[in-house]
Amino acid sequence: MIQALLIATLALAVLAWVAVPLRRGPKVDEPLPSLQLEEADARKRAALMGIVDIETERDTGKLSEGDFVALRSAYETQALIALREADALRDSTYDDDELEHEIAAIRERLRCPNCGAARRPGESCEQCGS
Ligand SMILES: [Zn+2]
Repeated sequence: MIQALLIATLALAVLAWVAVPLRRGPKVDEPLPSLQLEEADARKRAALMGIVDIETERDTGKLSEGDFVALRSAYETQALIALREADALRDSTYDDDELEHEIAAIRERLRCPNCGAARRPGESCEQCGS
């Protein structure tokens, strides 16, 4: 019984440790902000690559339009969250032109492909309804 409790406690501790980076918010006063920025950047890249992947899969007919829209919305939300974190961190710690370009490229991705208006992930375009 005690052994089971110990194992459960240990499992929870490991889970908490693993979950820490996931819960980290865009606080600017935490230690090692450059590490957080790297992490946010990695998540942003992963989400963007996901978007490119599913665009390809849709174009080649492997993914239905409905699945594509749902997946893209999820990826875009991830990218936006990471983008906001990176923005918050960058303001105080970073001044990197390359990153700036990358962020501009992501923002470009969040535009309506039909008319170019800014569009929130998962919502239809306010301009053209696409
Ligand atoms: Zn549009």
